[in-house]
Amino acid sequence: MRGCEIFGRPPCYDGMFLYDLINKDVKFEDETRKVMVALRVMYLAVLFSLILNTFVLGTQAMYDQRVKLLFLVAANIVLLVQTYCFRTKIVLWSYIVFSFVWIFMMIPIEGWKAGVQNFFMPMLMLVFFGSYSKKLQKFIIAALVLIVRISFIVLMSDAYVSLYSDPARDKALQIVNVTAVFCCAVYISYNFSKAEKESEGKLIKYNDTLKEAANTDQLTGLFNRRRAEQYMEEQIEASNGNPISISIGDIDFFKKVNDTHGHDAGDEVLKHIANVMKDTLRSDSFIARWGGEEFLIVLPNCNGDQAYMALDRLRRRIMGSSVLVGDAEISVTMTFGVSEYDFSGSMDASIKEADERLYRGKENGRNQVVY
Ligand code: GH3
Ligand code: MG
Ligand code: MG
Repeated sequence: MRGCEIFGRPPCYDGMFLYDLINKDVKFEDETRKVMVALRVMYLAVLFSLILNTFVLGTQAMYDQRVKLLFLVAANIVLLVQTYCFRTKIVLWSYIVFSFVWIFMMIPIEGWKAGVQNFFMPMLMLVFFGSYSKKLQKFIIAALVLIVRISFIVLMSDAYVSLYSDPARDKALQIVNVTAVFCCAVYISYNFSKAEKESEGKLIKYNDTLKEAANTDQLTGLFNRRRAEQYMEEQIEASNGNPISISIGDIDFFKKVNDTHGHDAGDEVLKHIANVMKDTLRSDSFIARWGGEEFLIVLPNCNGDQAYMALDRLRRRIMGSSVLVGDAEISVTMTFGVSEYDFSGSMDASIKEADERLYRGKENGRNQVVY
């Protein structure tokens, strides 16, 4: 909410107004807002510290230096407004030039000790974090800033004591300037490191999504064959000699389902079977779609007899269930072949054995588990 209206009084602007103004999007679609927002914050911080400095310097200084001070405040405001109209590159360069002019004009007034020259630091940080210029260009700017900074030390550090020198006033100026520089540096570091962390996090998440997609069967949401092969290799290592059982299950007369109700109905049956399997089998079971209407089930910590019982329970659940597609209530049965991995041969041999038993089950009349 941008404004608030209390008992019919004209709307007053709450803190959100300033927040929205600083965060206003950039005019150009091909630029990001982040750098421009940082530049606005920098201009506001400089403006604020400039005004505070002027008050600390006192009324005499305000009067004596009115032309310079008004010029700096006016330039700051104009440049702040410019952030809403121009491209980031122009605004960043204006900020660099303004910083030089401002520091150069303020040192003779406030004296070297006040520390306005420290404002070079956040400016340099912004050049590095915020500009898309080439690496070489950034280092050239950094070298130039260093040269100017050193020339300031040589030419100005001894020459300028505050025109309005007073120990308490000098300290107050130092505190104001150091605080402003500190806040600017923290703001830039926090915001730009946060953005980097955010994009890093997004990339990790995206990577996980890709990995998941590569391992998942799109239709049923079960694991796919690729993941199944990987899982079985891992399982041999992880089992610590505990029994592992493998089963291949195939839907009986599935072609007839497609022929009678259509391919889409067949897909619905496949999804339904996947759900029944997930609901019925123990949560540590691994279920994958092995091929068209064939499923591979790995049951860790299960010997052949236990696997037989678990799969027969699943077989009965499938037989007793049905799926409604349009007006048709479709019910199918499945045949399973089971084998226990014996750790001496390969997983492939166990899969082959389960497959042979599956086909024996098909020959023996289907809708059964063969072990
Ligand atoms: P059996 O009991 O001997 O296994 O008979 P069946 O009809 O199930 O076996 P067959 O191998 O003759 O046919 C399998 C059918 O499964 C043929 C194929 O079109 C269908 N199928 C394979 N993948 C999909 C799929 O993703 N969606 C649908 N709807 N059908 C599929
Ligand atoms: Mg089949
Ligand atoms: Mg088949």
